[in-house]
This record gives sequence, structure tokens and C-alpha cells, in this order.
Amino acid sequence: MTTPRIELALDKCVGGGQCVLAAPQLFDQDEQDGTVILLRQPEAADIGSASQAELVCPARAIQLIEE
Ligand code: SF4
Repeated sequence: MTTPRIELALDKCVGGGQCVLAAPQLFDQDEQDGTVILLRQPEAADIGSASQAELVCPARAIQLIEE
């Protein structure tokens, strides 16, 4: 099984930061406007928290893509 890739829709992001709370190793926020920054693509150990981030994002701006 391959590890899913994260795709961000930055135009949808409202900067709430729930993704950072769910997966601080993967996401950060821009200091100016709070929009999400992807720190790196997930590894196998990150799948749980990456899925949680996808789930809690109120703007549906995070997608895990299975390749
Ligand atoms: S949870 Fe979604 S809307 Fe909020 S900062 Fe992260 S990507 Fe943006």
C-alpha cells in the first residue's frame, strides 16, 4: 500500500488552524494571514493524523490522494 499524498486547496483555506492541531508535524500556518503551509508529505506513521486533519478542516481544503 502506498502512502497517500496531501493536496491543499489554498483558495479554500480560512486559516482556522485545526489542521495544525491535528497534525503539527505536517502543517503550519502563515504568520501573516494564517493560511495553511504543508511542511512535508506524510509518511506511513502520519496517516492517522493526516486523515484527522482532512476530517476536521472546516473548509475541506485538505485532501488525501491515494495514488
Ligand atoms: S484546517 Fe483547513 S481551513 Fe483551517 S488552516 Fe487548516 S487547511 Fe486551512
